[in-house]
Amino acid sequence: MSRFLSDRLSALTPYTPGEQPQDFNYVKLNTNESPFEPSPEVIKAINTAEVERLRLYSDPECKKTVKAIADYYGVESKNVVLGNGSDEILAFIFEAFCDKKIGVAYPDISYGFYEVFASRYGIDSKVIPLKEDYSLCADNYCNLNKTVVIANPNAPTGMAIPLFDIEKIAASNPDNVVVIDEAYVDFGGESAVELTKKYDNLIVVQTFSKSRQLAGARLGFAIANEALIADLNTVRFASNPYNINRLTLLAGEAAINDKAYFESTRNKIIENREYTVEELKKRGFTVLDSKTNFVFASHSEKSGAELYNGLKANGVLVRFFNKPRLDRYLRITIGTKEQMNTLLDALDKIL
Ligand SMILES: *Cc1c(COP(=O)(O)O)cnc(C)c1O
Repeated sequence: MSRFLSDRLSALTPYTPGEQPQDFNYVKLNTNESPFEPSPEVIKAINTAEVERLRLYSDPECKKTVKAIADYYGVESKNVVLGNGSDEILAFIFEAFCDKKIGVAYPDISYGFYEVFASRYGIDSKVIPLKEDYSLCADNYCNLNKTVVIANPNAPTGMAIPLFDIEKIAASNPDNVVVIDEAYVDFGGESAVELTKKYDNLIVVQTFSKSRQLAGARLGFAIANEALIADLNTVRFASNPYNINRLTLLAGEAAINDKAYFESTRNKIIENREYTVEELKKRGFTVLDSKTNFVFASHSEKSGAELYNGLKANGVLVRFFNKPRLDRYLRITIGTKEQMNTLLDALDKIL
């Protein structure tokens, strides 16, 4: 830390992303990316003509991409805002709808960025423990009088709550914003997008990083009532009106329009997940009920650290969280069938 850093940030602990090794060809199952290439339509859309247009700023209103996303989800363009990854959308939300007075509530085990944003913006957090079995009790989030942030399905557990619970939470906090982070919803969760038409306090956040093969393009979005989206645009235009670059705008539009590719890749991941769960159980693993593109698994005889290190030595990278309640587990991204077989072979060697 330099002697110039503002006191405001002196205690800030940043988010730790999963390893992104640039040198060695690991079987990479640690950051929940897709093992598949982007849709061929995306590759066609990123053409030389658009590369030449990089000298010009991108559309600050992101009109065409916003319209394509709105059409896909059956909402209006005024109900959609884009972010440079959904992480940026979440940052806008914490800045816009939480402060010292309002506060924020989220589960003790969830996406690590919620705690980082709360700390960055000086917001008091009410951290609500998941139950012993890692399930989320919706009643704990009712009548809170705080902004509520829930990942559904949750990470790193992979477990989902039903729409019925989301509705209960939104209805019981009418004077506070309820944020549902649906980064993984395409792999088996129930989306709350339709509920945003009924509840003017509900924001759904999604990303192109996990189910649409565009993690490196950085594209996320929020869907909500028009007034909430206008507020998020105020924050966006006060930080970076060109937050989505030209190539990403085209990639996002092409990806959302290629429904067939989306569905076939999503279905393959679900199929490979079910295969992996079954094979892990045969090997003595406990696997939480996943509705995502990863599984959260523990083994009775080996710690998470031992398994993580053993797999890494065998060229397979997974995610390990050295924290209470999580340190017996591995979070394993679902890749191709071949990648999952490499993982299983490596586990057979280690166990
Ligand atoms: C991956 C992830 C995000 C962020 O994704 P972006 O790449 O920034 O769009 C947000 N929330 C959860 C729960 C995630 O797992």
